[in-house]
Amino acid sequence: MISFIGAGPGDPELITIKGKRLIEQADVIIYAGSLVNPDVLEGHKAGAEIYNSALMDLDEVIAVMEKAEREGRKVVRVHTGDPAIYGAHREQMDRLDELGITYEVIPGVSSAFATAAALNAEYTLPGRSQTVIFTRMEGRTPMPEREKLPDLARHHATMVIFLSIGFMDEMARQLQEGGYEPTTPVAVVYKASWPDQRIVRGTLQDIAQKVKDAGITKTALTVVGEFLCEDHELSKLYDKHFTTEFRKAKE
Ligand code: SAH
Repeated sequence: MISFIGAGPGDPELITIKGKRLIEQADVIIYAGSLVNPDVLEGHKAGAEIYNSALMDLDEVIAVMEKAEREGRKVVRVHTGDPAIYGAHREQMDRLDELGITYEVIPGVSSAFATAAALNAEYTLPGRSQTVIFTRMEGRTPMPEREKLPDLARHHATMVIFLSIGFMDEMARQLQEGGYEPTTPVAVVYKASWPDQRIVRGTLQDIAQKVKDAGITKTALTVVGEFLCEDHELSKLYDKHFTTEFRKAKE
């Protein structure tokens, strides 16, 4: 059984206990070296074989998995954040299905959530936004029709934009084309949870310039929306005049 593991956003303490244990037990480790903090591999077996998938194509990754699996050796495939977000683990699972090799997925802390934590922000702020959109800009790989940034922006939901820090000017333009006011707050978090984490705050009007000035060109998330405003409504969940399943309203 091959284990796909979400390594978390960077801080080696942000991997799950289960993910950590499986890494410690692995004979073969294939990790996404472009983003996974190598420190999360600490504690691996002395003789473990370690591969950086940034240097491999899909066939090569599958070949390593298949060989080790046939030899009865434990393989872990370590993805950054949570594998379900731009992890490209589905194509690997499909190939393993064809080969009759079993697998499991251990979730991880996505950088989407490490970013919210860095900002002390709640994405679903009452009266502001109750919906979160994870997306990216159209770049070298196209976006499906109906998922262009201006279309998504029309909802005024909280938007978490991956893989797009290199296109900030265009991103800010398209978000405004979709109806966001130029004064809409935006935050960019570079390397959330790493020691060199950086936060840039601004509005759709000035964020591109601020990010340029900060010299941030990769490993950053952009979050956009009214949830970054100062004021908001209070939740019903903790409202003393509101009855919940666990608590009666007070007079
Ligand atoms: N599966 C990952 C995302 C992989 S896509 C996850 O759940 O986080 C890679 C993109 O994720 C990067 O281009 C960047 O936009 C974002 N990213 C990954 N780690 C990050 C971090 N520590 N801080 C900010 N953004 C990060």
